Amino acid sequence: MRAFRAVGGTPRFMVSGTGPYLTDADGREYVDLVCSWGPMILGHAHPEVTAAVQDAVARGTSFGTPGEGEVALAEEIVARIEPVEQVRLVSSGTEATMSAIRLARGFTGRAKVVKFAGCYHGHVDALLAAAGSGVATFGLPDTPGVTGAQAGDTIVLPYNDLEAVRAAFAAQPGEIACVITEASPGNMGVVPPLDGFNAGLKEICAANGALYISDEVMTGFRTSKAGWYGIDGVRPDLMTFGKVMGGGFPAAAFGGRADVMAHLAPAGPVYQAGTLSGNPVATAAGLAQLRLLDDAAYAKVDAVSAELRSLVGDALTKEGVAHTVSAASNMFSVFFTDEPVRDYEGAKKQEAFRFTAFFHSMLEQGVYLPPSAFESWFVSTAHDAQALERVAAALPAAARAASEAGA
Ligand code: PLP
Repeated sequence: MRAFRAVGGTPRFMVSGTGPYLTDADGREYVDLVCSWGPMILGHAHPEVTAAVQDAVARGTSFGTPGEGEVALAEEIVARIEPVEQVRLVSSGTEATMSAIRLARGFTGRAKVVKFAGCYHGHVDALLAAAGSGVATFGLPDTPGVTGAQAGDTIVLPYNDLEAVRAAFAAQPGEIACVITEASPGNMGVVPPLDGFNAGLKEICAANGALYISDEVMTGFRTSKAGWYGIDGVRPDLMTFGKVMGGGFPAAAFGGRADVMAHLAPAGPVYQAGTLSGNPVATAAGLAQLRLLDDAAYAKVDAVSAELRSLVGDALTKEGVAHTVSAASNMFSVFFTDEPVRDYEGAKKQEAFRFTAFFHSMLEQGVYLPPSAFESWFVSTAHDAQALERVAAALPAAARAASEAGA
């Protein structure tokens, strides 16, 4: 994604970030609406996070032993997200989903995994079937290097379609270990679950002895204090986290029901480990960031997002550009279609060429958007009135460029 293959042109090489701004190698400043794909919810180089990191670095960077920082971070996660009775720290969202699936298979003794088209769960071999994010952007059905055996136990279903889930369980009784879903997808653009979809998944899983895994790598600690769980209240068996909880460092996690987590090594037989898991610098950054994320911080991020959404929508409407601003809490994206988007097929029907023109106009005017029509935009507590004014000033020309774009 960062190579700009979806939109063309030369990617910007960023050399520094402060608050809502990034500066590239040519000294040009941008309002950042990507926030490192989600993690930087307090903006760049937040003084308190930076101080916590500097303090941790000075005390040594990795011990390969249990440590206070990982326990404090684990406690913070458990305190915020009630279904997480136990949690294991890892270093990336990919590791979190990979391990959660291994655990679900080990716990149930079953092989098959249900995922949804357009949902991205990292570059786990078994989950790279009809994935979103970079895979969505390039329209790859799969990726070379993943064998039939690795993908053969993955069942890919259309998102927001409970009937398809019921049919899959009926067709393969006793074979499905888990259903994994983005709690609210942001990797095919932002496509929130329809009312009752997550609850329906949970119910179908429970009725069939399968685990319901909610991937909150993107939504966790961003969409609310307790992530998407804090919004829909549907209790998963396992959950995965990353991005915001690492404060800009590689820290991620998976956790959930204690009876399921008991199957994880060293307590149980399902192996999982990592040299840098619970790294003291990463956990210090994550903990400092989470401790700053109180109700007021989420209210600020939500307000910034609402204002931006209305600015973008108004500018596109003024130029007569068909569009839908699709939001899930403070995550949002713009689909260049006025048809409602409920799944990956719907997302692909948009006029993505208009996004390309829109993106480049914004970039030229100093606003850094996600370089793909299939990605969420992210904002932070640091996006102040001045940053929003810069975005507002860039929008009319970008909307005009979108309206004049040809396929
Ligand atoms: N799950 C979701 C929902 C994601 O959005 C991502 C990354 O964008 C991942 C998992 C993978 O996380 P990572 O890139 O840290 O491996």
